[in-house]
Amino acid sequence: MKRIGAHVSASGGVFNAPINAQNIGAKAFALFTKNQRQWLAKPLDEETIKKFKEELEKSEILSQYVLPHDSYLINLGHPEVEKRQKSLEAFIDEVKRCELLGLDKLNFHPGSHLGEISEEECLAFISSCMNKTLEQTKGVTLVIENTAGQGSNLGYKMEHLKYLIDNSIDKERVGVCIDTCHLFASGYDFRSVKTYENTMNTFDTIVGFKYLKGMHLNDAKSKLGSRVDRHHSIGCGEIGLEAFKLIMNDERIDEIPMVLETIDESIWAQEIELLYSLIDK
Ligand code: ZN
Ligand code: MN
Ligand code: MN
Repeated sequence: MKRIGAHVSASGGVFNAPINAQNIGAKAFALFTKNQRQWLAKPLDEETIKKFKEELEKSEILSQYVLPHDSYLINLGHPEVEKRQKSLEAFIDEVKRCELLGLDKLNFHPGSHLGEISEEECLAFISSCMNKTLEQTKGVTLVIENTAGQGSNLGYKMEHLKYLIDNSIDKERVGVCIDTCHLFASGYDFRSVKTYENTMNTFDTIVGFKYLKGMHLNDAKSKLGSRVDRHHSIGCGEIGLEAFKLIMNDERIDEIPMVLETIDESIWAQEIELLYSLIDK
């Protein structure tokens, strides 16, 4: 079964996220467990945690279909040791917030070399931070998102994801999230049956579907291979509806959170309906 939702607002408290998800007919959702543009957040208190769990239960969305996203400030591949350390501490804190909320995944962008170090060095830093995090936490899978490769962001090649999995000290707690806009912008086509099969088979060979723990469903304003990260509403961009129909009918992508990060949240409910309507009866 497909579990489709959106990255909903948690403003006013994390417990509002499942309420917002339910209001748009979502069967999965993403959220930030803290303000994504700030380093520090006050710890989650007992009352907030309790309320979150109650609202999640009321929404009838199982915790495995919730895909929290980490802060945009974190860069586990930062060339400078102090800034990398600050990122690592913030990342561990994010994982612990997920633990407290009873959530089993944290979605993050690998990191950026900022033009100061090689891609290989940067990937090694990211891998080391992931392993330190795995040592200091439990129960939460680190879900690496592929990127558009804008600027110096790594994760735009499937080989980057493979490297981070291969070098993980706990392969049970590492996974990937495919963002369709990023996949397209980074040069992987999947707009026709042929290109779809080719790209997904490449993914299966290099990464493996067993590591696929989530998807971000976004159309793209940017062109194939442009390495520009510009999301668009489903069916309105360069990717088009046919690709989403292929995704919706791909059984290898069942039972994982599939999350809209499209630009017009006022139509998320319709987009969710549209995606479900693409499933062949
Ligand atoms: Zn992301
Ligand atoms: Mn994304
Ligand atoms: Mn993006």
